[in-house]
Amino acid sequence: MKLYNSATHQVEDFEPINTSEVKIYTCGPTVYSRAHIGNLASYIYWDLLVRALKANGYTPKRVLNLTDVGHLTSDADEGDDKLEKGAKKEGKTVWEIADSYIETFFKDFYSLNLLKPEVIARATDYINQDKELVSLLIDKGYTYETSDGIYFDTSKFARYAEFANLDLDGLKAGARVDFNPEKKNPSDFAVWKFIKPTENHAMRWDFLGKPGYPGWHLECSSIIHSELGETIDIHTGGIDHVPIHHTNEIAQSESAFNKKLANFWLHCDFINIDNQKISKSLGNVYSLDDLRERGFSPLDFKMWVLEGTYQGTRNFTFEGLEAAKNRRLNWRNNIALSYQDNAPSRDLDSPDSHQTFLDNQKSKILSPVSNNLNSAEAFAYIDSQLSAPNDFWQFVDELFGLNLLSDSPDISAEQKQLIIDREAARANKNFAESDAIRARLNSTGITILDTPTGPIWQYLS
Ligand code: AMP
Ligand code: ZN
Repeated sequence: MKLYNSATHQVEDFEPINTSEVKIYTCGPTVYSRAHIGNLASYIYWDLLVRALKANGYTPKRVLNLTDVGHLTSDADEGDDKLEKGAKKEGKTVWEIADSYIETFFKDFYSLNLLKPEVIARATDYINQDKELVSLLIDKGYTYETSDGIYFDTSKFARYAEFANLDLDGLKAGARVDFNPEKKNPSDFAVWKFIKPTENHAMRWDFLGKPGYPGWHLECSSIIHSELGETIDIHTGGIDHVPIHHTNEIAQSESAFNKKLANFWLHCDFINIDNQKISKSLGNVYSLDDLRERGFSPLDFKMWVLEGTYQGTRNFTFEGLEAAKNRRLNWRNNIALSYQDNAPSRDLDSPDSHQTFLDNQKSKILSPVSNNLNSAEAFAYIDSQLSAPNDFWQFVDELFGLNLLSDSPDISAEQKQLIIDREAARANKNFAESDAIRARLNSTGITILDTPTGPIWQYLS
């Protein structure tokens, strides 16, 4: 496989540290509100990564974290804890907020048919590991204490600017006036925050003689170390994580353990909606339920995401989603319509040549996906193979998780025949006949829509 590595700014051949298990870490959601479709797109890309690794014979071990503490409203260790703020707003406890949004997150996650990560790690379950890591950093002289916490001194980690190509001098010059005067460098970050007696922070743990809670970046370093070890194969996240969150994870982990944190770093770009940022003020923070209300299934959205690639900003529109839905239904309908039931391809009669034919078809899909996750190119090939045998579609389903087979409408042989006859009538421009067949189909509970990607059927609701 080839993957674009943000650490080296180039596409590289993927080589796992250990062939028996590929260690992957995905920065997960902060569970104080429902994930919007932009957030969810990132998990769709990383699901494709895991499925592509599997299709190439690897056994991935993936860890996904859930941030339920310490993520402040500003990434620069300022503002309120997002969870505490969310709890106040909804009149609930922080634990209730976290529990309810974790539940919603996984409902969304599984309705997109995403594979379950091998380890799901909730940040507050790793507080002891956090404390150990902070103690190690203190002992090694990487930190200093201020009135509000323990800070990592980024000037002590020589490679700090490297990963994100940061301009540290510029950062210093541009430091805001209200920049915490106790910080030695603008880029220094809290590994542990103290809770002042006047402060109302419900999630608290005693450490260093006072109540406090972990800095946001710390959880990922602790969880990776406890669940996967010192160096992992692939670390994924959103592109916004590059300059602060991942830069800080690297500084903490590599200073503490003297080992490279990750060999490959994959970052997905953002999704805009109608060419605008996703934001509350624009009223475009769509959840999967908002899509459902407009008649789209979560898998239509997954199809739309996989029609593009994880690098480069994407522009979401409902017209685009409609086209993705039609394409997915067109594929699905062709499976149900297919002329064979696991029989050899119509063009070939011997089982051997069927296998060769199938292997060739599969490789036409797997090779673009193995080339930096180019599902868009694989989809174009699938469009040209709509009458492929069922084992082809099984492969497509395993690689993309679109539930094409299980979601296929169960239609009768008579309905199938009517659809085929109608296509023939249309091809002969016999529109009176095709309309008559459509009416007969309607009477059996099915409606036919003609779309740019071909006719699709749906149950009449
Ligand atoms: P949060 O749950 O708030 O920590 O956000 C999770 C992640 O979703 C962010 O860090 C981004 O990487 C990603 N994200 C946020 N907005 C978008 C977007 N519009 N498109 C794609 N990814 C996004
Ligand atoms: Zn992280």
